[in-house]
Amino acid sequence: MNFTPEVVIKSPGRINLIGEHLDYNGGHVLPAAIDLTVTLRLRKKNSRSCTIYSKSIDDSFQVDLDKLEISSQEWHNYFLGVIHFTEQRYPGHISGFDCIVESNLPIGSGVSSSAALECGIAVALKNLFDIPVTDEEIIYIARDAEHHFVGTKCGIMDQFAVVRGKKEKLIQLNCHDLSFDYVPAELSPYAIVLLNTNVSHNLATSEYNLRRQECEAALEIVRKRYPVYEALAHIPKKIVQEHEKEMTPKMFQRAEYVIEENQRTLQASLALAKQNLPDFGALLFASHTGLSEKYEVSCPELDFLVKQAHHHPNVIGARMMGGGFGGCTINLVHKDHMDSFIEHTALAYQKKFQIELTPHTVKIGDGVQLIL
Ligand code: ADP
Ligand code: MG
Repeated sequence: MNFTPEVVIKSPGRINLIGEHLDYNGGHVLPAAIDLTVTLRLRKKNSRSCTIYSKSIDDSFQVDLDKLEISSQEWHNYFLGVIHFTEQRYPGHISGFDCIVESNLPIGSGVSSSAALECGIAVALKNLFDIPVTDEEIIYIARDAEHHFVGTKCGIMDQFAVVRGKKEKLIQLNCHDLSFDYVPAELSPYAIVLLNTNVSHNLATSEYNLRRQECEAALEIVRKRYPVYEALAHIPKKIVQEHEKEMTPKMFQRAEYVIEENQRTLQASLALAKQNLPDFGALLFASHTGLSEKYEVSCPELDFLVKQAHHHPNVIGARMMGGGFGGCTINLVHKDHMDSFIEHTALAYQKKFQIELTPHTVKIGDGVQLIL
């Protein structure tokens, strides 16, 4: 499929410096959009059907706008969900179109190619059909598509960062009330290097949804006595400890992680404001330990890469990033030593797992953009 497009959208992936698995727990996170993107090219056509082709996976499918149903193919559902929820809010705008998707984002690796796709198609539809949908609505439409069509009960951070990202800025986002500030990403002389483990263990979606349930259950137990707490991340540790006996050991462990990670994220923002990069980096390592040992969403490959980073003199912080069970680690590496760090770690990784890792040096970029 090839054509002259009427609308071209570039939609970025995102990183998150710290605050993992906190968005659905009402906590603080520190994400940013990156300069790796999904590109969507669209044109209208005179019918009630759409053809969507992804060059990345060399596959296409048809959408009948009058018979929109959840598909058995996961990747279709990002589009179907966004079309459905846009139509629900703004009935009668969307008609037939063709769409070509290209991407230089690693897929299924924790940089949220999913949110890039959802938010990208939402902004594309807005521009192609002149739909008066707001950025905030797009964030929710994309999130709802992922919840109800794809089946991942994700939080709001990924969609928020993809839509609201700004060049060279981190977003200090409070996921409880969606208040946010842009702060300069002053990490120099350190650069952001992602190391893709190139593994994705099948547990990702089921364990993600299970963590969410465990956290909701822990919150409900505390709320029986303290209904004032609306989110798990807000509960003081002492109060969670009061309820330890009423929780399963796993539930208690998850709650502790969430509360500690929220504190780490707040401390990281303070460290950044003071330009104390060693403290900032140390909090990333501590975040990884929590994710691995208390939240149990890491895997041997991620743990190995973070350990390598920890032992490397030119890395000040590293942790797994995203849902877990594979995907990328995020590393803060001195800009003069990136090549040697990557080379050294890739060799060690290859030796240990017989897998090649893929490095990405990323810059903080703008949120989803209309190019044409
Ligand atoms: P992440 O969001 O971290 O990349 P997810 O598992 O949440 O990982 O989302 C990855 C899924 O998104 C893929 O399995 C696929 O269904 C869909 N996807 C992302 N990018 C593309 C693309 N360029 N073409 C087709 N499907 C894509
Ligand atoms: Mg995703």
